[in-house]
Amino acid sequence: DQPILQVKNLAKYFPIRKGIILQRTSGYVHAVDDISFDMRRGETLGLVGESGCGKSTAGRTIIQLYRPTSGNVIFEGTDLTGVSGSALRQTRRKIQMIFQDPYASLDPRMTVGQIIAEPMLIHHTHQGEQAKRRVQELLDMVGLATNYANRYPHEFSGGQRQRIGIARALALDPSLIICDEPISALDVSIQAQVVNLLEDLQRRMNLTYLFIAHDLSMVRHISNRVAVMYLGHIVELAARDELYENPLHPYTQALLSAVPIPDPKVRGKRQRIILEGDVPSPIHPPSGCPFRTRCRLAKDICAQVRPENREIRPEHYAACHLV
Ligand code: SF4
Ligand code: MG
Repeated sequence: DQPILQVKNLAKYFPIRKGIILQRTSGYVHAVDDISFDMRRGETLGLVGESGCGKSTAGRTIIQLYRPTSGNVIFEGTDLTGVSGSALRQTRRKIQMIFQDPYASLDPRMTVGQIIAEPMLIHHTHQGEQAKRRVQELLDMVGLATNYANRYPHEFSGGQRQRIGIARALALDPSLIICDEPISALDVSIQAQVVNLLEDLQRRMNLTYLFIAHDLSMVRHISNRVAVMYLGHIVELAARDELYENPLHPYTQALLSAVPIPDPKVRGKRQRIILEGDVPSPIHPPSGCPFRTRCRLAKDICAQVRPENREIRPEHYAACHLV
C-alpha cells in the first residue's frame, strides 16, 4: 500500500533579522531539522514533544502554510514542495488543519454557517442552497444542531467551537487532517468527547490524522503510531504499544517516566527520570545529538556525530548511538 504522505528530510529554518533599515539575517531558528516519516491511509500518527520542539511548525510546513527550507512532502504521489498556485490549492483541498485554539481560529464577525461554507466558496465546490445544505450536513456530522448556522462563534463553548472548526475542516472532504493540539485548550471533561468525535469521523470518512500534542498521555488513546520530537528532530517513532512499553530513546524514557501508569506491575519497574536543564535554543542547537546536553548517558561520540534514526526493532526507529 502506497503511503498517503511521505515526509523526506523536511527542514524549516526561520531567519532572524537584525537592524531596522538593513534587514540583515543574523542567524536561523532551526525549527524543524531533517525529519522523515511516512503515513498510512486511515491511521493516526501522534506527533509529541514539549512546546517549542517544532511540532506545530512541522504540521504547518507539511500543509505548505510555511514553505520548507529543504526536503520533500509527497502527498498522494505529488511533491507539494514542487507545486504552487492553483495546482497547490487543488492538492491542498485534501489536507486540512484543526487548530489548538477554537477561540482564536474562528472569525468572530462571521456566522457559523459562513465559517463552515467559506472553504467551499473559495474552492467553488458548492454554492447557494447547495452550500447551505452541506453546512447543515456538516453540523449534523459533528454533533451540532443545524440551526446553529445562523449564530456567531462567541455564543458557543470551547468544545462546541472546536466542533465548528472540525466541520469547517471537513467541508472539502479531505483525506488528511493535521490536528494541532485540538484538545489542549479544552476542559478535561470535554477532551474525551472531541477525541471520540474525531475517531468516529475517521472511521466514517477514512480520514488520516497527524495528531500533534505536547505530552504522551494525550495521544495514547487515539494514535496507532507515535513519533517523539525534540529540538526539531524526530528522535523515536514506533507503533503505539511498542513505544509505551519499550521506549528506546533516553528522551522518550524520561517523558514516559512522568506519565502516570495505571498498571502497578509496570509502574513498579519504571523509575521517574528528571530531565535536568532547559531545552537548548533552536538558534544554536548542540553539535551531534540534539538531546546530549540533557542526556544522562551522553558519551564523547554524542557531541561529534548526529545519530541517525535507525530501525532498532521491527518498525521501531530511534536516533541514539547507545541503543
Ligand atoms: Fe544520549 Fe548520546 Fe543517545 Fe543522544 S545519542 S540520546 S546524547 S546517548
Ligand atoms: Mg504548538
